[in-house]
Amino acid sequence: MKVFETLKAFKEYRQVLSHSYLSDEIGLVPTMGNLHQGHLNLVEYSLYENETTIVTIFVNPKQFGPNEDYEKYPRTKNEDIKKLEKLLSDPDLKDKNLIVFAPKNPCEIYGENFSMSIIENSLSNKLCGLSRPGHFEGVTTVVYKLFSTSRPHNAYFGKKDYQQYLIIKKMAENLDLPIKVVGLPITRESDGLALSSRNVFLNATQRNQSLNLYKTLNQVKEKIERDGKISDLEIDNIKIKSDYYEWDYLEVLDIKDLEAINKKTKEVLIAGSIKFDCARLIDNITVKINV
Ligand code: AMP
Repeated sequence: MKVFETLKAFKEYRQVLSHSYLSDEIGLVPTMGNLHQGHLNLVEYSLYENETTIVTIFVNPKQFGPNEDYEKYPRTKNEDIKKLEKLLSDPDLKDKNLIVFAPKNPCEIYGENFSMSIIENSLSNKLCGLSRPGHFEGVTTVVYKLFSTSRPHNAYFGKKDYQQYLIIKKMAENLDLPIKVVGLPITRESDGLALSSRNVFLNATQRNQSLNLYKTLNQVKEKIERDGKISDLEIDNIKIKSDYYEWDYLEVLDIKDLEAINKKTKEVLIAGSIKFDCARLIDNITVKINV
C-alpha cells in the first residue's frame, strides 16, 4: 500500500500507473478520514471491483461553514492507514493495489492561485444545503479535483449522505466526466445508528438520544406503508422530540431528484437531521410507493 502526502507525488504516481494493467480499472473512495466500518465497506467494495483503489483522506475546509466543526473534526491518519492495510489481509484482495492520498495540508489541494468553484444549482438548495450554505459547493469542488487528479473509472459514495451522492452523480453526468458514480448502502451500529465520524462527539446520553433519528424515520416509513399514501402525513407530529437536540429537517421527497412527491414518484427518501450542541447528525431511509 502506498501513501502520498503531496499532490505532486500523487500526480506523478498516477501518470506512471497509466502504463500498467493496474490502471485498467481504478476505483476512488473520497473520505475525510477517521475511518469507520461505513468507510471500510466502500473501500472493500472498490477493492473487489477494481485493480487499483485510491482512498483519499482530506478534511476539506471548503465544505465547512465558519461556525462548523472544521478545527475539531477528528483526524486519525495513522490509525486510518492501519485499518486500510488490514483490508488487504483478505486472501481475495491481497494482490490488489491500494493507494492512499492524504494531503498533508489544504495547500496541497488548493494552491495559492486557486480561484475555482463547481456549483450545482438545484439539488444543493434543499435539505442539508439550507442549513449549510456553501457546503455542497465545497464538496463538488474538491470531488472534481479528486476526480481530475485520480482519473478513476468508478467512484464510490455512501448513501448515508444521499444528497451528496446525487449531486456528485449529477456533476459527473452534466459535465460529461467519464466516471461511474456508485452509491452504496448505509452501514449502521447494531442498534440502528448510522455510523459517522461525528458520533465520537456524543456523550452517553446524546448517544442514546441519537437513536430517535432512525426511530423517527422508521415511524414515517411505517405510516406511509400503513396508509398507502403520502398526503396528510403530518410529519411534525411524528418527530420524536427531545431537550437534547433540535430537529434541523425531516422530509419525504422523491428519491430520484429530491422534488416533492408527485404522480410519477415510485420511491421516496425519508431524510432527517438533528442537531446536538456538539454534532449534527443526518440519516435517511427509503420506501417504495404506488401513488
Ligand atoms: P466522510 O468521511 O464523512 O466524508 O465520508 C466519506 C464517504 O463515506 C462518503 O461517501 C460517505 O457517504 C460515506 N459514509 C460515511 N458514513 C457512512 C455510513 N455509515 N454508511 C455508508 N457510507 C458512509
